[in-house]
Amino acid sequence: MSNLICSLHDQALELSKQYLACEKELLEILVKIEAKRVYLEQGYATLTEYSQKALGLSRDVSWNLVTIVHKSKAVPELKQAVQRGVLPLSKARQIAPHLTKENSQKFIKLAQTMPREKLQEALARECPKVPSVEERARVINATQAELSLCLPKEVMEKIRRAQDRVSESQKKWVGLAETLEQVVEFYLQHKDPKERAKRHEVRKSKAAVKTIQARRTVREFDGAAISHELDFRPINKPIAKIPSKNRVPIPAGIRHEVIIKNAHQCTYQDPKTKLRCEKGRFLHFHHKLPVAKGGTNALENLTLLCSAHHRLEHYQGSA
Ligand SMILES: [Zn+2]
Ligand SMILES: [Zn+2]
Repeated sequence: MSNLICSLHDQALELSKQYLACEKELLEILVKIEAKRVYLEQGYATLTEYSQKALGLSRDVSWNLVTIVHKSKAVPELKQAVQRGVLPLSKARQIAPHLTKENSQKFIKLAQTMPREKLQEALARECPKVPSVEERARVINATQAELSLCLPKEVMEKIRRAQDRVSESQKKWVGLAETLEQVVEFYLQHKDPKERAKRHEVRKSKAAVKTIQARRTVREFDGAAISHELDFRPINKPIAKIPSKNRVPIPAGIRHEVIIKNAHQCTYQDPKTKLRCEKGRFLHFHHKLPVAKGGTNALENLTLLCSAHHRLEHYQGSA
C-alpha cells in the first residue's frame, strides 16, 4: 500500500473517531437541554426545531438524536448504550419507538448484532404492532412521491373493495394510487376542518340572501379574573363542555372563520427567517389577548397555533 493511501486511511479513521465521540457528547448535552427546556429560552418551540435551526443539524440527524433523548427519559439504558459506543445512533433510533423498560436489554442486544432489515423483522416478530417494513414517504420528482408501508391483511382487503367501487364508478380499471387518491379526497371532504369551514361559508352566504341579520354575535368575556389556560383541544373536535365557568366557548361560526382566514395552518412566524410554521395538524385556537386579560372570542383576537408553538407563545407571554 502506498504511503498516500495509508495516510488518507489514517486520517479518515482519526476523524471518524472524533465524529463518533462528538455525536455521543452532543447527545449528552441535548439530554440536559431537554431537561431544562433551554430551547424555549432560545425562542424555539421544540428540541427538534432547536437542533435544526439553532445547531444547524440535518433533519435526519436531529430526528435521530431527539428521538433518543425523549426515549431515554423512560429508558436510560438506550442513551447509555450509545454513550458506551456499543450502539450506533441510527440503530438506537430504529429501536427507540418500541423500547420499554422490560424489553430494553433484549432489543439493545439485538440492535448491536443485527443489520437494519433483520432488526426490523425481529422487532415486528416481538411487537405485534410494528410493521416488518419501515414506513417511508419520499418525493421522487416534481409531481410524484413514493410511499412504502405495511398494512394488516384486512385493511388491504378493504382497499381492494374500495378499488372495485372506484373502478365501477369510473367505468374503467383504476389502480391503487388512484383509489387511494379518491378515498383520501372523500375522507377530507367529510373530516377536514378546512373543508367543513368552506361548507360553512357557503351555507352562510346562502342564508344571508334569504334574510338580513346580524352577521354574528360576539359574546364578550364577562371579565371575571381567571388564569389563562392552554386550550389544547384539537380544533376539529366538537366542544363537549365549557372548560371553565367563566370561559365562553368559541362559537362554531367563528372557529370556521379563523380556520379559513389562516388556511388551517399554524400562524407562528420564525422571527429570524420570517418563515411561517407549516404544521396543519393538532392545531389549537389561541387568544392573542388572553381571556384572563379581557380577550374575547372575536375573530381578530383569535389565531391558530400548533401545539409546540402554542406552548412557546404562552411560555414567552408569561416570561
Ligand atoms: Zn393560547
Ligand atoms: Zn407551529
